[in-house]
Amino acid sequence: MNWDGLNARIDLVMGQTNDAFRGSAIPVTVEEAGRQEIDFQENQFGIFNDVTMLAARADVQALRDQTAADLVVLMTDGDYTEPNTWDRIFGVVRLIGPSEPDAYAIVEAQEATASYTFAHELGHLFGARHQQSNIYNPCAQFGFDCGDDTPGDAHGYAFRTGWLNQQRWYTIMHQIRPNWSPRMYFSNPQVEVQNTTIGAWNTNNNARQIRDANGIIADFRPTVQGLRAWIEGPGYLPLYQPGNWEAVYTCGTGPYSFEWYFSYDGFNYYYGDSREITGGTLYNCNEYLYIQLVVHSGDGQVAQAFHTVYTDYCDGAPYRVAYSGKENVSAPNEITLKDAYPNPFGQTTRIEFYLPESQEARVEVLDLTGHTVKVLAEGTYEAGWHGNEFSSGNLKGGLYFCRLKTRNYTQTKRLILIR
Ligand SMILES: [Zn+2]
Repeated sequence: MNWDGLNARIDLVMGQTNDAFRGSAIPVTVEEAGRQEIDFQENQFGIFNDVTMLAARADVQALRDQTAADLVVLMTDGDYTEPNTWDRIFGVVRLIGPSEPDAYAIVEAQEATASYTFAHELGHLFGARHQQSNIYNPCAQFGFDCGDDTPGDAHGYAFRTGWLNQQRWYTIMHQIRPNWSPRMYFSNPQVEVQNTTIGAWNTNNNARQIRDANGIIADFRPTVQGLRAWIEGPGYLPLYQPGNWEAVYTCGTGPYSFEWYFSYDGFNYYYGDSREITGGTLYNCNEYLYIQLVVHSGDGQVAQAFHTVYTDYCDGAPYRVAYSGKENVSAPNEITLKDAYPNPFGQTTRIEFYLPESQEARVEVLDLTGHTVKVLAEGTYEAGWHGNEFSSGNLKGGLYFCRLKTRNYTQTKRLILIR
Protein backbone atom coordinates (compact mmCIF):
# COMPACT_ATOMS: atom_id res chain seq x y z
CA MET A 1 0.00 0.00 0.00
CA ASN A 2 1.44 3.35 -0.91
CA TRP A 3 1.61 6.25 1.49
CA ASP A 4 -1.29 8.13 -0.18
CA GLY A 5 -3.55 5.10 0.09
CA LEU A 6 -2.54 4.63 3.67
CA ASN A 7 -3.24 8.27 4.50
CA ALA A 8 -6.76 7.99 3.08
CA ARG A 9 -7.31 4.82 5.05
CA ILE A 10 -6.19 6.47 8.28
CA ASP A 11 -8.68 9.28 7.67
CA LEU A 12 -11.41 6.72 7.13
CA VAL A 13 -10.74 4.62 10.20
CA MET A 14 -10.61 7.70 12.44
CA GLY A 15 -14.01 8.73 11.06
CA GLN A 16 -15.38 5.22 11.47
CA THR A 17 -14.27 5.08 15.07
CA ASN A 18 -15.95 8.38 15.90
CA ASP A 19 -19.09 7.33 14.03
CA ALA A 20 -19.14 4.10 16.03
CA PHE A 21 -18.78 6.10 19.25
CA ARG A 22 -21.62 8.40 18.26
CA GLY A 23 -23.86 5.62 17.01
CA SER A 24 -23.31 3.71 20.23
CA ALA A 25 -24.09 6.79 22.37
CA ILE A 26 -20.52 7.02 23.69
CA PRO A 27 -19.55 10.65 24.44
CA VAL A 28 -15.94 10.18 23.33
CA THR A 29 -14.09 11.56 20.31
CA VAL A 30 -10.70 10.49 19.05
CA GLU A 31 -8.56 13.16 17.44
CA GLU A 32 -5.42 12.69 15.45
CA ALA A 33 -2.36 14.05 17.24
CA GLY A 34 -0.10 13.41 14.25
CA ARG A 35 1.04 10.75 11.82
CA GLN A 36 4.47 9.72 10.72
CA GLU A 37 5.90 7.04 8.45
CA ILE A 38 8.49 4.90 10.25
CA ASP A 39 10.76 2.03 9.30
CA PHE A 40 9.46 -1.05 11.00
CA GLN A 41 10.53 -4.63 10.35
CA GLU A 42 7.42 -6.77 10.80
CA ASN A 43 7.88 -10.35 11.93
CA GLN A 44 5.01 -12.20 10.29
CA PHE A 45 4.62 -14.61 13.19
CA GLY A 46 5.35 -12.19 15.97
CA ILE A 47 2.74 -9.51 16.25
CA PHE A 48 2.71 -9.66 20.04
CA ASN A 49 6.46 -9.29 20.14
CA ASP A 50 6.27 -6.55 17.52
CA VAL A 51 3.88 -4.42 19.54
CA THR A 52 6.21 -4.69 22.51
CA MET A 53 9.10 -3.58 20.33
CA LEU A 54 7.00 -0.71 18.99
CA ALA A 55 6.26 0.50 22.52
CA ALA A 56 9.95 0.32 23.42
CA ARG A 57 11.29 2.28 20.46
CA ALA A 58 12.80 5.59 21.48
CA ASP A 59 11.93 7.31 18.20
CA VAL A 60 8.29 6.25 18.51
CA GLN A 61 8.18 7.48 22.07
CA ALA A 62 9.72 10.77 20.95
CA LEU A 63 7.03 11.19 18.31
CA ARG A 64 4.43 10.44 20.93
CA ASP A 65 5.95 13.06 23.24
CA GLN A 66 6.09 15.71 20.55
CA THR A 67 2.51 15.26 19.47
CA ALA A 68 1.23 14.63 23.01
CA ALA A 69 -0.49 11.51 21.68
CA ASP A 70 -2.47 9.59 24.27
CA LEU A 71 -2.61 6.45 22.11
CA VAL A 72 -0.26 5.13 19.42
CA VAL A 73 -1.31 2.88 16.53
CA LEU A 74 1.08 1.47 13.92
CA MET A 75 -0.75 0.90 10.64
CA THR A 76 1.18 -1.76 8.76
CA ASP A 77 0.93 -3.18 5.24
CA GLY A 78 2.18 -6.51 6.61
CA ASP A 79 0.17 -9.71 7.08
CA TYR A 80 0.35 -11.32 10.48
CA THR A 81 -0.42 -14.96 11.22
CA GLU A 82 -0.88 -16.73 14.52
CA PRO A 83 1.82 -19.44 14.56
CA ASN A 84 -0.25 -22.02 16.48
CA THR A 85 -3.58 -21.89 14.69
CA TRP A 86 -2.49 -20.27 11.42
CA ASP A 87 -5.27 -17.74 11.90
CA ARG A 88 -4.72 -14.38 10.36
CA ILE A 89 -4.36 -11.70 13.03
CA PHE A 90 -5.61 -8.27 12.00
CA GLY A 91 -4.40 -6.30 14.96
CA VAL A 92 -3.18 -6.40 18.52
CA VAL A 93 -2.69 -4.12 21.50
CA ARG A 94 0.18 -4.09 23.97
CA LEU A 95 -2.30 -4.36 26.86
CA ILE A 96 -6.10 -4.28 27.19
CA GLY A 97 -7.22 -1.37 29.32
CA PRO A 98 -6.11 2.22 29.85
CA SER A 99 -2.39 2.10 30.63
CA GLU A 100 -0.15 4.94 29.54
CA PRO A 101 3.08 2.98 28.86
CA ASP A 102 1.14 0.19 27.12
CA ALA A 103 -1.15 2.30 24.95
CA TYR A 104 0.26 0.95 21.68
CA ALA A 105 -1.44 -1.08 18.95
CA ILE A 106 -0.58 -2.58 15.57
CA VAL A 107 -3.33 -2.76 12.95
CA GLU A 108 -3.13 -4.25 9.47
CA ALA A 109 -4.07 -1.37 7.20
CA GLN A 110 -5.58 -3.65 4.57
CA GLU A 111 -8.21 -4.97 6.99
CA ALA A 112 -8.65 -1.89 9.12
CA THR A 113 -11.83 -0.59 7.51
CA ALA A 114 -14.03 -3.50 6.44
CA SER A 115 -14.05 -5.28 9.77
CA TYR A 116 -13.51 -2.15 11.86
CA THR A 117 -10.32 -3.62 13.25
CA PHE A 118 -8.87 -0.16 13.91
CA ALA A 119 -11.89 0.71 16.07
CA HIS A 120 -11.63 -2.77 17.62
CA GLU A 121 -8.02 -2.31 18.73
CA LEU A 122 -8.76 1.20 19.96
CA GLY A 123 -11.62 -0.33 21.95
CA HIS A 124 -9.12 -2.69 23.60
CA LEU A 125 -6.93 0.28 24.57
CA PHE A 126 -10.00 1.69 26.32
CA GLY A 127 -10.48 -1.65 28.13
CA ALA A 128 -13.24 -3.07 25.95
CA ARG A 129 -13.12 -6.85 25.54
CA HIS A 130 -14.29 -9.61 23.23
CA GLN A 131 -17.51 -11.58 23.66
CA GLN A 132 -17.55 -13.88 26.66
CA SER A 133 -16.24 -17.34 26.02
CA ASN A 134 -18.64 -19.88 24.59
CA ILE A 135 -21.28 -17.36 23.67
CA TYR A 136 -21.96 -17.46 19.95
CA ASN A 137 -18.51 -18.90 19.72
CA PRO A 138 -17.62 -20.61 16.47
CA CYS A 139 -14.28 -21.83 17.77
CA ALA A 140 -15.79 -23.87 20.60
CA GLN A 141 -16.90 -26.61 18.23
CA PHE A 142 -13.30 -27.10 17.16
CA GLY A 143 -12.09 -27.30 20.72
CA PHE A 144 -10.76 -23.77 20.77
CA ASP A 145 -12.02 -21.10 23.07
CA CYS A 146 -12.06 -17.80 21.23
CA GLY A 147 -13.94 -15.89 23.88
CA ASP A 148 -12.85 -13.96 26.89
CA ASP A 149 -13.31 -15.40 30.38
CA THR A 150 -12.53 -12.11 32.09
CA PRO A 151 -15.37 -11.16 34.42
CA GLY A 152 -16.96 -7.77 34.06
CA ASP A 153 -19.34 -5.95 31.82
CA ALA A 154 -17.04 -4.73 29.07
CA HIS A 155 -17.68 -7.46 26.51
CA GLY A 156 -18.66 -7.36 22.88
CA TYR A 157 -22.01 -8.69 21.73
CA ALA A 158 -23.74 -10.65 19.02
CA PHE A 159 -27.39 -10.11 18.13
CA ARG A 160 -30.05 -11.11 15.62
CA THR A 161 -32.64 -9.06 13.83
CA GLY A 162 -35.30 -9.43 11.19
CA TRP A 163 -37.86 -12.08 10.36
CA LEU A 164 -37.34 -15.15 12.56
CA ASN A 165 -34.16 -13.45 13.71
CA GLN A 166 -32.43 -14.63 10.60
CA GLN A 167 -30.01 -11.73 10.31
CA ARG A 168 -26.97 -12.29 12.46
CA TRP A 169 -24.70 -9.49 13.56
CA TYR A 170 -21.85 -8.79 15.91
CA THR A 171 -20.57 -5.57 17.43
CA ILE A 172 -17.06 -4.23 16.91
CA MET A 173 -15.45 -5.94 19.90
CA HIS A 174 -16.91 -9.36 19.11
CA GLN A 175 -14.40 -11.49 17.26
CA ILE A 176 -15.00 -12.10 13.60
CA ARG A 177 -17.05 -15.21 12.89
CA PRO A 178 -18.19 -16.76 9.64
CA ASN A 179 -21.77 -16.13 8.44
CA TRP A 180 -22.24 -13.26 10.85
CA SER A 181 -21.65 -9.65 9.89
CA PRO A 182 -20.00 -6.83 11.77
CA ARG A 183 -22.00 -3.73 12.66
CA MET A 184 -20.38 -0.41 13.42
CA TYR A 185 -21.44 -0.34 17.06
CA PHE A 186 -19.90 -0.99 20.40
CA SER A 187 -22.13 -3.02 22.72
CA ASN A 188 -24.46 -0.82 24.74
CA PRO A 189 -27.65 -2.02 26.46
CA GLN A 190 -29.08 1.48 26.09
CA VAL A 191 -28.92 1.44 22.30
CA GLU A 192 -31.24 -0.38 19.94
CA VAL A 193 -30.50 -1.36 16.36
CA GLN A 194 -33.52 -2.49 14.36
CA ASN A 195 -35.53 -2.81 17.57
CA THR A 196 -32.89 -5.02 19.13
CA THR A 197 -30.79 -4.05 22.12
CA ILE A 198 -27.11 -4.35 21.31
CA GLY A 199 -25.75 -5.13 24.75
CA ALA A 200 -26.52 -6.41 28.22
CA TRP A 201 -26.15 -4.54 31.47
CA ASN A 202 -23.84 -6.72 33.48
CA THR A 203 -21.90 -8.42 30.73
CA ASN A 204 -21.91 -6.65 27.38
CA ASN A 205 -21.43 -2.95 27.81
CA ASN A 206 -18.40 -1.71 25.88
CA ALA A 207 -19.95 1.76 25.86
CA ARG A 208 -19.67 2.18 29.58
CA GLN A 209 -16.09 0.94 29.67
CA ILE A 210 -14.99 3.29 26.89
CA ARG A 211 -16.78 6.23 28.45
CA ASP A 212 -15.27 5.60 31.87
CA ALA A 213 -11.75 5.09 30.51
CA ASN A 214 -11.87 8.26 28.45
CA GLY A 215 -10.87 10.62 31.23
CA ILE A 216 -7.91 8.43 32.17
CA ILE A 217 -6.71 8.18 28.58
CA ALA A 218 -7.17 11.87 27.84
CA ASP A 219 -4.83 12.55 30.75
CA PHE A 220 -2.02 10.29 29.51
CA ARG A 221 -0.35 13.28 27.88
CA PRO A 222 -0.92 16.96 28.42
CA THR A 223 -2.56 18.06 25.23
CA VAL A 224 -3.38 21.16 23.34
CA GLN A 225 -7.09 20.74 23.91
CA GLY A 226 -9.22 22.93 26.07
CA LEU A 227 -11.11 22.17 29.27
CA ARG A 228 -11.29 18.49 30.17
CA ALA A 229 -12.79 16.85 33.22
CA TRP A 230 -13.00 13.45 34.76
CA ILE A 231 -14.06 11.84 37.98
CA GLU A 232 -11.74 10.19 40.45
CA GLY A 233 -13.09 7.81 43.04
CA PRO A 234 -14.11 4.21 43.66
CA GLY A 235 -15.85 2.13 41.02
CA TYR A 236 -17.18 -0.25 43.66
CA LEU A 237 -19.07 0.43 46.88
CA PRO A 238 -19.18 -2.32 49.48
CA LEU A 239 -22.18 -2.70 51.75
CA TYR A 240 -22.99 0.43 53.80
CA GLN A 241 -19.93 2.30 52.55
CA PRO A 242 -20.41 5.87 51.39
CA GLY A 243 -18.36 6.90 48.42
CA ASN A 244 -16.35 10.01 47.81
CA TRP A 245 -15.69 11.28 44.32
CA GLU A 246 -13.66 14.19 43.19
CA ALA A 247 -13.77 16.41 40.15
CA VAL A 248 -10.47 16.62 38.31
CA TYR A 249 -10.00 18.97 35.40
CA THR A 250 -7.37 20.67 33.31
CA CYS A 251 -7.10 23.79 31.17
CA GLY A 252 -9.61 26.56 30.87
CA THR A 253 -9.49 29.46 33.30
CA GLY A 254 -11.29 29.93 36.59
CA PRO A 255 -13.60 30.38 38.28
CA TYR A 256 -14.85 26.84 37.76
CA SER A 257 -18.30 25.61 38.66
CA PHE A 258 -19.56 22.06 38.92
CA GLU A 259 -22.81 20.21 38.42
CA TRP A 260 -23.19 16.64 39.60
CA TYR A 261 -25.87 14.26 38.42
CA PHE A 262 -26.59 10.66 39.26
CA SER A 263 -28.56 7.91 37.67
CA TYR A 264 -29.64 4.35 38.42
CA ASP A 265 -30.09 3.27 34.83
CA GLY A 266 -27.34 5.23 33.08
CA PHE A 267 -30.00 6.97 31.07
CA ASN A 268 -32.11 9.20 33.28
CA TYR A 269 -29.86 11.51 35.27
CA TYR A 270 -30.96 13.51 38.30
CA TYR A 271 -29.36 16.63 39.63
CA GLY A 272 -27.47 16.17 42.88
CA ASP A 273 -27.41 19.24 45.06
CA SER A 274 -24.32 21.36 45.40
CA ARG A 275 -22.49 19.29 47.98
CA GLU A 276 -23.81 15.79 47.95
CA ILE A 277 -25.71 13.23 46.04
CA THR A 278 -28.12 11.28 48.17
CA GLY A 279 -28.92 7.91 46.78
CA GLY A 280 -32.49 6.75 46.86
CA THR A 281 -33.51 3.33 47.99
CA LEU A 282 -32.13 0.39 46.11
CA TYR A 283 -34.07 -2.81 46.45
CA ASN A 284 -31.88 -5.09 44.43
CA CYS A 285 -28.41 -6.33 45.09
CA ASN A 286 -25.68 -5.49 42.68
CA GLU A 287 -27.01 -2.22 41.36
CA TYR A 288 -25.11 0.29 39.33
CA LEU A 289 -24.89 3.95 40.16
CA TYR A 290 -23.88 6.33 37.40
CA ILE A 291 -22.34 9.68 38.12
CA GLN A 292 -22.09 12.54 35.68
CA LEU A 293 -20.00 15.65 36.19
CA VAL A 294 -20.34 18.86 34.21
CA VAL A 295 -17.64 21.50 34.65
CA HIS A 296 -17.95 25.10 33.48
CA SER A 297 -14.82 27.24 33.28
CA GLY A 298 -14.64 30.99 33.58
CA ASP A 299 -13.74 31.33 29.90
CA GLY A 300 -16.99 29.70 28.85
CA GLN A 301 -15.90 26.13 28.17
CA VAL A 302 -17.90 23.12 29.26
CA ALA A 303 -16.60 19.60 29.85
CA GLN A 304 -18.33 16.52 31.14
CA ALA A 305 -17.24 13.21 32.60
CA PHE A 306 -18.94 9.98 33.58
CA HIS A 307 -18.20 7.36 36.18
CA THR A 308 -19.86 4.04 36.91
CA VAL A 309 -20.07 2.62 40.41
CA TYR A 310 -21.07 -0.91 41.21
CA THR A 311 -22.90 -1.03 44.54
CA ASP A 312 -22.96 -4.17 46.61
CA TYR A 313 -26.10 -3.15 48.35
CA CYS A 314 -28.99 -5.37 49.23
CA ASP A 315 -31.10 -4.27 52.17
CA GLY A 316 -32.94 -1.24 50.84
CA ALA A 317 -31.65 1.36 53.29
CA PRO A 318 -30.58 4.66 51.79
CA TYR A 319 -26.94 5.40 51.36
CA ARG A 320 -25.06 8.54 50.67
CA VAL A 321 -22.37 9.50 48.27
CA ALA A 322 -20.62 12.80 48.53
CA TYR A 323 -17.91 14.47 46.60
CA SER A 324 -15.38 17.19 47.03
CA GLY A 325 -14.48 19.37 44.11
CA LYS A 326 -11.76 21.98 44.03
CA GLU A 327 -14.32 24.71 43.75
CA ASN A 328 -12.55 27.92 44.60
CA VAL A 329 -9.95 28.17 41.92
CA SER A 330 -9.10 31.75 41.12
CA ALA A 331 -8.18 32.80 37.61
CA PRO A 332 -5.93 32.66 35.70
CA ASN A 333 -3.63 30.10 37.19
CA GLU A 334 -2.75 27.71 34.42
CA ILE A 335 0.49 27.58 32.53
CA THR A 336 -0.56 28.37 28.98
CA LEU A 337 1.02 28.13 25.58
CA LYS A 338 -1.11 30.20 23.23
CA ASP A 339 -1.83 29.18 19.65
CA ALA A 340 0.77 30.72 17.38
CA TYR A 341 -0.50 33.64 15.35
CA PRO A 342 -0.65 33.55 12.40
CA ASN A 343 -0.81 29.78 11.86
CA PRO A 344 -0.34 28.48 9.19
CA PHE A 345 2.42 30.98 8.51
CA GLY A 346 5.08 31.81 5.92
CA GLN A 347 7.91 33.95 7.29
CA THR A 348 7.20 34.69 10.95
CA THR A 349 4.65 33.84 13.60
CA ARG A 350 4.25 35.00 17.17
CA ILE A 351 4.35 32.57 20.07
CA GLU A 352 3.24 33.59 23.57
CA PHE A 353 3.09 31.79 26.86
CA TYR A 354 1.76 32.50 30.33
CA LEU A 355 3.28 31.57 33.69
CA PRO A 356 1.18 31.96 36.85
CA GLU A 357 4.34 32.29 38.94
CA SER A 358 8.03 32.92 38.39
CA GLN A 359 9.80 29.79 37.18
CA GLU A 360 12.15 28.26 34.65
CA ALA A 361 10.70 27.70 31.23
CA ARG A 362 11.89 26.66 27.81
CA VAL A 363 10.04 27.20 24.55
CA GLU A 364 11.34 25.53 21.41
CA VAL A 365 10.31 24.62 17.91
CA LEU A 366 10.76 20.98 16.89
CA ASP A 367 10.54 19.23 13.57
CA LEU A 368 8.70 15.97 12.99
CA THR A 369 11.68 13.88 14.02
CA GLY A 370 11.97 15.65 17.35
CA HIS A 371 15.01 17.75 16.58
CA THR A 372 15.04 21.25 17.96
CA VAL A 373 15.17 23.75 15.13
CA LYS A 374 14.96 26.87 17.29
CA VAL A 375 14.93 27.75 20.99
CA LEU A 376 12.62 30.74 21.47
CA ALA A 377 12.87 31.13 25.22
CA GLU A 378 15.03 29.62 27.91
CA GLY A 379 15.63 30.76 31.47
CA THR A 380 13.76 31.97 34.53
CA TYR A 381 10.74 34.12 33.75
CA GLU A 382 8.51 36.33 35.86
CA ALA A 383 4.83 35.53 36.31
CA GLY A 384 2.76 36.80 33.41
CA TRP A 385 2.76 36.75 29.63
CA HIS A 386 5.92 36.37 27.56
CA GLY A 387 6.34 36.12 23.82
CA ASN A 388 8.69 35.90 20.91
CA GLU A 389 8.66 35.93 17.14
CA PHE A 390 9.58 32.74 15.35
CA SER A 391 11.21 33.28 12.00
CA SER A 392 11.11 30.29 9.67
CA GLY A 393 14.41 31.14 7.89
CA ASN A 394 15.13 28.49 5.29
CA LEU A 395 13.20 25.64 6.93
CA LYS A 396 11.21 23.37 4.64
CA GLY A 397 7.44 23.70 4.59
CA GLY A 398 5.39 21.27 6.66
CA LEU A 399 4.39 20.41 10.18
CA TYR A 400 6.41 21.60 13.18
CA PHE A 401 5.73 21.66 16.87
CA CYS A 402 6.13 24.40 19.42
CA ARG A 403 6.75 23.05 22.91
CA LEU A 404 6.63 24.82 26.25
CA LYS A 405 8.38 23.02 29.08
CA THR A 406 8.56 23.91 32.75
CA ARG A 407 9.72 21.75 35.63
CA ASN A 408 6.38 19.94 35.93
CA TYR A 409 4.54 20.77 32.77
CA THR A 410 4.74 20.33 29.03
CA GLN A 411 2.42 21.71 26.42
CA THR A 412 2.74 21.34 22.67
CA LYS A 413 1.12 23.21 19.78
CA ARG A 414 1.27 22.49 16.10
CA LEU A 415 2.79 24.92 13.63
CA ILE A 416 2.18 24.69 9.92
CA LEU A 417 4.82 26.34 7.75
CA ILE A 418 3.71 27.12 4.21
CA ARG A 419 6.21 27.56 1.39
ZN1 LIG B 1 -9.48 -8.13 19.91
